[in-house]
Amino acid sequence: MTEDRFETIAIHAGQDPDPTTGAVVVPIYATSTYVQDAPGQHKGYEYSRTDNPTRTALQTQIAALEGVAPGAGGGCVATSSGLAATGLIGHMLAPGDHVVLSNDVYGGTFRLFAQVLSGHGIEWTAVDLTNLDELRGAVRRETKLIWVETPTNPLLRIVDIEAVVDVAKSTGTMVVVDNTFATPYFQQPLELGADVVLHSSTKYLGGHSDAVGGALVTRDPDIYDRLKFLQNAVGPVPGPFDAYLFLRGIKTLAVRMERHAENAAMIARFLEDDARVATVWYPGLASHPGHEVASRQMSGFGGMVSFLPVGGVDAANAVVSRTRLFFLAESLGGVESLIETPASMTHMSVEGTDLEVPAELIRLSVGIEHVDDLISDLDRALG
Ligand SMILES: *Cc1c(COP(=O)(O)O)cnc(C)c1O
Repeated sequence: MTEDRFETIAIHAGQDPDPTTGAVVVPIYATSTYVQDAPGQHKGYEYSRTDNPTRTALQTQIAALEGVAPGAGGGCVATSSGLAATGLIGHMLAPGDHVVLSNDVYGGTFRLFAQVLSGHGIEWTAVDLTNLDELRGAVRRETKLIWVETPTNPLLRIVDIEAVVDVAKSTGTMVVVDNTFATPYFQQPLELGADVVLHSSTKYLGGHSDAVGGALVTRDPDIYDRLKFLQNAVGPVPGPFDAYLFLRGIKTLAVRMERHAENAAMIARFLEDDARVATVWYPGLASHPGHEVASRQMSGFGGMVSFLPVGGVDAANAVVSRTRLFFLAESLGGVESLIETPASMTHMSVEGTDLEVPAELIRLSVGIEHVDDLISDLDRALG
């Protein structure tokens, strides 16, 4: 299995035909409990918070895509949402521990550290992780965790994962990389030395905007054992129906990501050349400040594009209400294109903080519709 390539792993890892029926697709094991031959004598499953075969298949599939071989000690734990996965990482920390976050992390990640975990005695500092001096200055003896997101949301900043890992190694600090935007298809943080990868599977992994879920993946056997323990002890597990939707979505991850990135690159170039647009952020553009690092650590630039229209907030509100194919909605990573204004939609919790974004910023999640139709839609909406 491990010598297989990404596209093959996505369709086969954890997905052997069902041994009892030969079903080609992993069944939805809708059961909370499992019969035992004698007390404690069972086939590996006792209770579905602890383990469920549909979820096991999903975890094997995601782990393999992040480069974790079965039986090597590491693995994946699937969760009921991306933030539930962040919460499990939070449960690995103790009062007095300190966390360094990148200063434009996902708003919900910021809110969890700033408004929930801080109440449990966990301290945090938000820094610009593209500036290694800022990182070195923020790390102290109590720093147990560096939280990286790259590309970041919504400004698509690129953090050099290997450089952050270098700083962390010298202090024995755990590095978590939120790989939601890039997916394992374009970026392999564990290969670059990160300890844990986090996903909001809700986005590209699921890929069809029909389920909320998350995942954590690690090669470290001790971290994996702790996360597996916490998954059961804290309990934020996905049900078997959701696990099935993610298994199904991930089978086409490679082909979807190729098209998302191809469409996004064309849209970014269209916007960059348009006089009605002031600034465009897309890591694939040579003008993007993180382009060089992105070219080194990613094998593609993803499907997210952000831009500032000329004319400020009023212009931005007009654009987002005029698109027909780009639905005005939160979230990202589905086959359908979405448009939003982060400052008034997804990023309200960071208003007035270091993480505040321009009020007229527009974020696109470029879908896999025909790119000419998407460009016509934006062209008309720009007015
Ligand atoms: C959506 C998102 C999350 C949170 O995931 P949920 O599934 O919504 O809980 C975390 N990180 C990033 C980058 C996201 O886009």
